[in-house]
Amino acid sequence: MTEPVFRYHPDPLATGSAMPIEHECSVCGQLRQVRYRGPIYGGQPETLCLHCIYSGEASRALGVVAVATDGSDILDMPAEFSDAVDVPDDVPHHVIEEITRRTPGFTGWQQESWLYHCRDGAAFLGPAGYRDVEPHPDALNMLRASHRQLGWSPEETEEFLHRLDRNGEPTAYLFQCLHCGTHLASWDIG
Ligand SMILES: [Zn+2]
Ligand SMILES: [Zn+2]
Repeated sequence: MTEPVFRYHPDPLATGSAMPIEHECSVCGQLRQVRYRGPIYGGQPETLCLHCIYSGEASRALGVVAVATDGSDILDMPAEFSDAVDVPDDVPHHVIEEITRRTPGFTGWQQESWLYHCRDGAAFLGPAGYRDVEPHPDALNMLRASHRQLGWSPEETEEFLHRLDRNGEPTAYLFQCLHCGTHLASWDIG
């Protein structure tokens, strides 16, 4: 059976958010060939397939009931696979919902946030080392800009960029805008 294709996460096998292994999905009970291995903010199933993420079934089935912070209300919280952090104001709500609830997330050293461009979510291409980011000056410049804001010197920044490692740390996370093709990157460190 073919695997679902996610607009914002085109190749979860390549990014490491899924692995090819036969399993019986805890949510749908079907025998599946690809298993999700990214973060789940919600109930923790033994195993989860990509079909259940795609359909929204996983988000519903793994949702949790929480009491509002002021104790006034009981909330049904759908499970999410990534956090909506620093989302630009012009991104429609349905996009945020699709990314957080119906798109495989990815694991970083810290809690990862999705990147956005052209009023839409960007496609996640995967964790990246220096050699993965180097061909994309737009992504490199985005990393440089974030370091400038933190007060790093240009020398410190260049040294840092060369240490980026897809499997070690620090790691960059590479995205591409679905509209203008610009490459984007964030980074973190353990
Ligand atoms: Zn399933
Ligand atoms: Zn764009």
